Amino acid sequence: MGEFIRVHIDQEKCKSPDEVKAWASVCPVGIFKVHDGKAYVVEENEDECTFCGLCLQVCRSGAVTIEKLYE
Ligand code: SF4
Repeated sequence: MGEFIRVHIDQEKCKSPDEVKAWASVCPVGIFKVHDGKAYVVEENEDECTFCGLCLQVCRSGAVTIEKLYE
């Protein structure tokens, strides 16, 4: 988990390998990796999230949530 930002993937909502590939590749700072049709968070990159919202727009199943761990 990142120190300042937590990016979470709900694997139950993450069913379509093609869709996973599409949204996991849009992240400009490499937060996601794809393996066997499933997306995972690259934890060492998590704090690099810029809140650009691209992954949230492209993922139609709502599997991704992003949380600030600071005020
Ligand atoms: S909001 Fe932007 S920077 Fe953050 S994980 Fe999604 S695509 Fe990557």
